[in-house]
Amino acid sequence: MLSSFQNQKIVAETLQRSLESGRLAHASLFIGPDLGEMEAMATALAQTLHCENPPSRSQTSGLNTDACGVCRSCTMIAERKDPNVRWIYPESKIRIITTDQIRQLISSFQLKSLSGSYEIAILCGADRLNIQAANAFLKTLEEPFPGKLFILLTQDAQKILPTILSRCRHFVFEGINRPIIESDIQEWLDVFVQTAASSTEGIVSRYTLLAPMISKLDEMQSTIEAELKEKSPLSHYPDAEEKQKERWEKELQASIASEYRRQRSAMVGAVELWLRDVWLTKVTGAFPEMAHLPQMQSSTEKVAERITEKQARENLKNVGQTIKSLETNIQEALILELLLLKLTL
Ligand SMILES: [Zn+2]
Repeated sequence: MLSSFQNQKIVAETLQRSLESGRLAHASLFIGPDLGEMEAMATALAQTLHCENPPSRSQTSGLNTDACGVCRSCTMIAERKDPNVRWIYPESKIRIITTDQIRQLISSFQLKSLSGSYEIAILCGADRLNIQAANAFLKTLEEPFPGKLFILLTQDAQKILPTILSRCRHFVFEGINRPIIESDIQEWLDVFVQTAASSTEGIVSRYTLLAPMISKLDEMQSTIEAELKEKSPLSHYPDAEEKQKERWEKELQASIASEYRRQRSAMVGAVELWLRDVWLTKVTGAFPEMAHLPQMQSSTEKVAERITEKQARENLKNVGQTIKSLETNIQEALILELLLLKLTL
């Protein structure tokens, strides 16, 4: 049942509101960390559309707004025996959804006469469509068939063709895709994003972003040092043996370094989350309903407006590479400077 998804209330309720108003998108994209959970949500939606004994129904649209889960139709769908609900999984050795699979799906959708009930195709691993299959599918998304629904599931929206992304309604599930940003990094990010949005094109403006980034890192380093020094036995047993003190000192330095790396990744990771919002805004033409940084809407839209889709994607790629480079621990300032020079904001 849609109403029983305790951990995915936002998605389930959004779907129920669409059913209530009769404005169900003909193509939905579920983006989440857990394919099983997304399959369960797709199943619940399909059951709702077909349920013979619905617990709730909309007066406005005439559509069910939830499913009983036990009637003949609900059971058939749960057991994947209902011919109205098609499941498509990556096939072949290299685990892709092939052009043949898509062609078959489309022709079966075209052949069937309108039985009055919804026909639903669920593509599990929509990032697994190869380019030809994606292009074949694209036409279908552009000219929707009445009474047919497509539900695409993905754990990695970045791998989906922008043209497909832009034709689906997005539902972002709670989980790894929406990590919590620590509050002091959040504060810093707000300023970073506002500065980025208000700056004009050109290299000078990149340096106006670099300075606050470096000073934030300096601040991090000294806070971590102070906090961990305070906790270290070094500060509490000044009369300990020299050998022991040396060991403590080594431990202290190692823990400072590892905490610093952790916080630095969190900081660059936060920038990545924001760039993802920019990219989604660009490809879908609207600020994502479930953005990582909802409070940054106007700055995000401003940046998305002035860059191209390709630039938005490149930005994401560059920040991803930066995170990797930082892990190998070579010159930090240089790596960050390079990133900011590459970004188009
Ligand atoms: Zn039912």
